[in-house]
Parts: sequence; structure tokens; C-alpha cells
Amino acid sequence: MSTQIEPLDVALEQLKIAAEMLNLDPGVHAFLKRPKRTLTVSVPVKMDDDQVQIFWGCRVQHIDARGPYKGGIRYHPCVNLDEVKALAMWMTWKCAVVDIPYGGAKGGVCCNPKKMSQTELEHLTRRYTNMLLDFIGPHKDVPAPDVYTNPQIMAWLMDTYSRFKGYSVPECVTGKPIIVGGSEGRNEATSRGVLISIREAARRVGMKMKGATMAVQGYGNVGGNAAKIAHNMGVKVVGVSDSRGGIYSPKGLDPAKVWEHKMKTGSVLGFKSAVKEITNPELLELECDILVPAALENQITKTNAGSIKAKIVGEAANGPTTPDADKILREKKVFLIPDILANAGGVTVSYFEWVQNLTREHWTLEEVNRKLENVMVKSFKDVYDAMVKEEVDMRTSALLLGVGRVAKAIETLGLWP
Ligand code: NAD
Repeated sequence: MSTQIEPLDVALEQLKIAAEMLNLDPGVHAFLKRPKRTLTVSVPVKMDDDQVQIFWGCRVQHIDARGPYKGGIRYHPCVNLDEVKALAMWMTWKCAVVDIPYGGAKGGVCCNPKKMSQTELEHLTRRYTNMLLDFIGPHKDVPAPDVYTNPQIMAWLMDTYSRFKGYSVPECVTGKPIIVGGSEGRNEATSRGVLISIREAARRVGMKMKGATMAVQGYGNVGGNAAKIAHNMGVKVVGVSDSRGGIYSPKGLDPAKVWEHKMKTGSVLGFKSAVKEITNPELLELECDILVPAALENQITKTNAGSIKAKIVGEAANGPTTPDADKILREKKVFLIPDILANAGGVTVSYFEWVQNLTREHWTLEEVNRKLENVMVKSFKDVYDAMVKEEVDMRTSALLLGVGRVAKAIETLGLWP
């Protein structure tokens, strides 16, 4: 499904548009184009068969003008440095859009976690963390989960970091299991934020959530939880997919049951009450009111954007839509909620987790969700109001807000020496 378009080209093109509209100083624009620091590592791991395998990994720190670097770690066979640079840049804008005091970072290890045992994943995680030790830390750079990483992997990261420090440092990473300092609600936070922003968009376009139909691409942490939360709001989830393909049922699927099936079999395929199996490209073009891409970059391109039927697209994934596709969706009057707004619920609750760890507090789920609701509703309103005022689309509006805040911070701090 992916095209030749590179996520870094997309991110740089978006930055260029924002820089021109904001009339940014060329020096500041140049500053924003590149990550401040990039670390690449070769991680040796003794596999279960006693052979040593070397895994390529990296951590990219984009800009920290508004606070410590923050961003997930991705384990995926296609991870590469330019992709991680793009993801780190999007993190910078995202933290600024929801106005939390972080900069942007991202990490990745090129591996296939589906083919690795838990022991191999633990060894990889601990060795990778060891190689990042001087780079990360609660006031420097705070990692979190992303594609094919999870709370257990964050626990190993926390333990490795803590063992080297000589004391427990839960605030060095977010998205941990609750038992070791994780926050209530973090696991579903990205999806809850996606659904809050979809609900806000629906309100503006006069669409009722109850009875609306939705398709979800990618049935992992974000996509699976988005489907479950939507179902609880009365939305009919008619199609879902994962890396192996998708399923469709016009009467609606039960997302919790689909999740159970995926946990048992490894895929959504083969789910009994589905009417038919579909491909990932077909899923994106399904007849539905709401489309939630929740897998990888470059899924909605100029090739398929014209065939998208949804009236609202909520970008749960990072970078799922190319700039060419953006134009087509805009012409079709699709209400697109850009990734740096739509999926910001994850980093917002990661911020809450970090604050709880630093203050040694533990907030209730109600408190976390109430605070998340406030941040998402306010951020959506900020982006929406600026969109109307500046007569741009939602993506441009979010970029103007995010890039604008970061540029202002850089100018305020000044260039030393
Ligand atoms: P995950 O590993 O839990 O799930 C990824 C899902 O995507 C899996 O179901 C996988 O089968 C599916 N997938 C992989 N390749 C696919 C393909 N080519 N076509 C269709 N499906 C495919 O990851 P996640 O944490 O749910 O992340 C999903 C997206 O959300 C990513 O773009 C990530 O950057 C973004 N995101 C995640 C968070 C978070 O808190 N985890 C926060 C913000 C954004």
C-alpha cells in the first residue's frame, strides 16, 4: 500500500508551508528542519539459539525548546533513520499543539518482534536502553510505547535505566504498567483522544455519533481501543484491519470480541461474525461516515484519496496522509483531523504519568480522563477556531499553532553563544 513518498519529505513539506505562512525567520526555519541530536546504535543480542544478532537502532531528538524530549520507541522491520526523524519532528509540533511542556523525539529498532521470543525482546530492550543511557532521562528525554512496543517493554526500559542509576526512576519512561508507576488510562489515552476529537468534529459538521459508521485500519493498541471506545459511544464499527488484512460487517462488529479473537489467533482475519474479508486498500475506501487510519504512514495517497467515502478522517496513526492526498480530501470537503491533534491524547496522558511520577502521586482514572477531555477539547477548539480565522484546513491550522509556538520558544530563548 505504501508509495515512494518518504515521511521525512512529507514532514519537511508541511514545515515549509507553515514557515512561509508564519513568515518565519529563515534561521529559525533552518533550525526546525533538522533534529538537534541523532544517535544510531548497533545492538548485539544473544538469540534463543545462542547466535548473536546485531540490530540497528536509533534515537532522534528534534527540538527541546519547550521542555524535555518526548516520544515513542518503535520496533518494526522497516524502521529507518529518516522515518524516525519525521516522527520526532511531528512529536515536537504535537506537544506544542496540546501545549504540554515537551520537545519531540522518537526511537526505533529495526527488528521483527512477531518473530522474537519474550526473552529476545527483553534482551534487545535492555541492551538498547543501555546504549541510550547518556541520551535519555526524566529531564532529558522520556520514551514511550509506539508500534510493536508495549507496557512490558517500557517496564524493562525503566528497570534497566534504574539499575544503572542505583535507584528506581519511574519518571524516565511513560506507558509503563500501572504496578510500576504507570498512569491509569494511559493504555487507551491515544484512542480516547482520537474519539474526543472525532466527536468534536462531528458536532461541527452536524453528524450524530450514535449510529454513525466507522472503519479502523490497524487493530493494535490505538486502533483496537478506538474501536472499543467508539462502540461504547454508539458508533457502528463496520470494518477493521491489521497487517494481514481486514474484515467487514455492515451491521457492525463487536470490537471487544474482535480483540479477543486477535489475541487468540494473531489477526482479525477469521472472525466468525464478519460478513466478508477485505484488503487494507478496500478498508480505506469502505462506505462509512468515519475513517480512522491507526497503522503506519502513507496509507491515504493521491491514488486512493479520491475513493474515500468517509466524511470525517481521524488520524490516529502518525503521517497516514500524504500532502497530495490532503489536497484531494480538502476538495472533497472531508473533515480531516490531523495526527498532531487527533492522536495527541497519548502524549498528554504520558505527560500526566510523568507528573504523577515526579510528584509521587497516583491519580484516579476519572481524574486522568477528565484532564484529558479538557486538554483535547481546548486543543481542538484552538485548532478549529484558527482554521476558520485563517481560512485554512485543519492540518495547516494545527501546524501553524504547533510550529508557531516552537518558533516563538526558540526566539525567546535566543541562540547561545
Ligand atoms: P501497535 O503495534 O499496537 O498496532 C499496530 C497495528 O497496525 C497492528 O494491529 C498491526 O497489525 C497493524 N498494521 C501494521 N502494518 C499494517 C499495514 N501495513 N496495514 C494495516 N495494518 C497494519 O501500534 P500502536 O501503538 O497502536 O500505533 C499505531 C499508530 O498510532 C502508529 O502510527 C503510531 O505511531 C500511532 N500512535 C501511537 C500512540 C500510542 O500511544 N501507542 C500515540 C500516538 C500515535
